[in-house]
Amino acid sequence: MGYTYDPENIFARILRGEIPNSTVYETEHTLAFRDINPQAPVHVLVIPKGPYVSYDHFAQEASEAEIVDFTRALGKICEMEGVEAHGPGCRFISNAGHDGVQEVPHLHVHILGGRPLGRMLSSA
Ligand code: 5GP
Repeated sequence: MGYTYDPENIFARILRGEIPNSTVYETEHTLAFRDINPQAPVHVLVIPKGPYVSYDHFAQEASEAEIVDFTRALGKICEMEGVEAHGPGCRFISNAGHDGVQEVPHLHVHILGGRPLGRMLSSA
């Protein structure tokens, strides 16, 4: 069974301009905006503009141009938000599927920072 993309998911609607967002950074293939329910002082969601469900889907099927653009955007946003590893640091999280407890079925990387984030997992 392959990946099935739901074009009515909330991030697809943000990409179509149907729902407002607080944009941090935008390129040809990537959009970054602030999470509506921030878990840290810095909480940016980075999404590709293409219809990819998850990072594994993107990694398997996106073009090299999309992958390079997305990856460079992650670095650029860390710089813009002042959370690079050579500064205070941050955490990237990309939940996928059922076990990953993914709520929105459009690839997104959470960039979290601005405070010490504790250990990676706090419960089983
Ligand atoms: P997930 O659990 O899928 O990794 O994370 C989904 C994230 O999307 C959550 O952190 C949630 O707060 C955020 N979110 C859900 N709906 C919206 C929205 O309409 N706008 C923004 N900016 N963030 C949203």
